[in-house]
Amino acid sequence: MKKHPVIILGGGPAGSVTAMHLLQRGITPLIVERHDHPRYHVGESLTGATAVTLKELGLGPAIEAQRYPIKHGAVFYGPEGKNDFWVGLVRRNEQNVQVPTSTWNVMRSTFDKLLFDAALERGAQWIKARALAPLVKDDAVIGLKIETPDGATDNLYSEVLIDASGCATFLANHKVTGRKVPGSSDKQIALFSQFANTIRDNGSELHEQPGNTLLYYQAKYYWAWFIPVSEELTSVGVVFTSDYFKKARMTKEQMFLHECRHMTPVLSKRLPDLTLQEPVSAIPNFSYQVYNYTGKGFICIGDAHRFIDPIFAYGVYFGIQEGLFAADAVAQFLSGERNANGNPFADLEPLFEEGSDVVEDVVGVLWEYPLAFQRIVTWRDKEPSLDLLSGLIYGECGRNNVARIALRKLMATKEAERAALQQRDHEPGNIELAVA
Ligand SMILES: Cc1cc2nc3c(=O)[nH]c(=O)nc-3n(C[C@H](O)[C@H](O)[C@H](O)COP(=O)(O)OP(=O)(O)OC[C@H]3O[C@@H](n4cnc5c(N)ncnc54)[C@H](O)[C@@H]3O)c2cc1C
Repeated sequence: MKKHPVIILGGGPAGSVTAMHLLQRGITPLIVERHDHPRYHVGESLTGATAVTLKELGLGPAIEAQRYPIKHGAVFYGPEGKNDFWVGLVRRNEQNVQVPTSTWNVMRSTFDKLLFDAALERGAQWIKARALAPLVKDDAVIGLKIETPDGATDNLYSEVLIDASGCATFLANHKVTGRKVPGSSDKQIALFSQFANTIRDNGSELHEQPGNTLLYYQAKYYWAWFIPVSEELTSVGVVFTSDYFKKARMTKEQMFLHECRHMTPVLSKRLPDLTLQEPVSAIPNFSYQVYNYTGKGFICIGDAHRFIDPIFAYGVYFGIQEGLFAADAVAQFLSGERNANGNPFADLEPLFEEGSDVVEDVVGVLWEYPLAFQRIVTWRDKEPSLDLLSGLIYGECGRNNVARIALRKLMATKEAERAALQQRDHEPGNIELAVA
């Protein structure tokens, strides 16, 4: 029985980047991915911190050769296109001073292929197969049962299985982890496609650069994105509540085109040609959270355990950053530096959750208190806010950030209000009233 030190389930950005980190630590992983690259994927806007990690992995020149649009930040438009504000990307230099930085908005099909190919070129192995079920012995995951494209099944054994299966949440669906529960942005739907001939900015200032992301905030849970993904094509998506979609009684194509034209004039004027360059896709109920997602023989990273809300484009960043943390932990485990009894990866969960909770609060305040959000991010705590948006969300960096503390206070107030309302609804007198 051959045992692989690490099997990575999923060859998306999280899986490929984790493979490269493991290779740097002398560990050769086996990637189980069912699709050939390039394959379609949503999620084109990258954070500044993602670009930093990819450059550190030596991938900068290969990504630049793709000529993806350069993103310097995002312009947020308020309801009806008013009160727009700019959030520029920053990083901290050697003197710990914030300086502007940039990243890319990418075509995910070619971007994911580039990362996957780089992982294989550097030594990762790949088996094209669909994972059918985890192999579990006592309370440990010991591998995967797979099915290859010819229909044959096989068992693969591992010291550690890293679940990077994205929103397929493989181990959670097979009940290896704790519960999977809907997230706070549940009951929304995203409709998206790509257009050509869009009107992009083209000025001399950073906020007027053609590759920037544009975000259109219309109301709570009602927004749109405009993300240039190549010289010709722009990804456009509209997001709203499922109720709003149901009430409109339109097909997803009709609804998408209707919203592109009517949601807000500042989006419409950038889309003179509504010829769809690919079919309209829909993703409903995209937000969820999985509990207890590390254990003997396994770690879930990125979307495989949590997805919050795409508005600030942290999805790819979470996957690759958690992949880095996981690679360090796995290297320690395989060299005997971590206790093999109990859950050797238990410390990863509070670390991952701390970062995700920061982003959950950033997003939560945007939806619950949009004016306070704008005040904190663009004026009162601008510098620390930009640190959060640039990915400084883990450990002390996130914990002691004054913008983060302000955002947490606001969300704590909202949570207390919700709890009080729930308690009121459950008081016996109120139940009787409701029944009557
Ligand atoms: C509407 C919307 C908009 C978004 N916008 C952004 C954005 O602008 N920026 C951003 O960073 N993120 C965005 N995201 C999130 C982003 O798409 C994800 O966070 C990101 O793709 C996760 O990467 P990953 O590598 O973890 O998973 P994925 O990229 O999904 O890769 C998982 C891989 O696992 C493979 N796999 C799954 N199950 C199996 C199986 N059983 N057997 C074999 N292979 C399997 C799949 O084929 C896939 O290739 C958005 C998400 C949504 C819903």
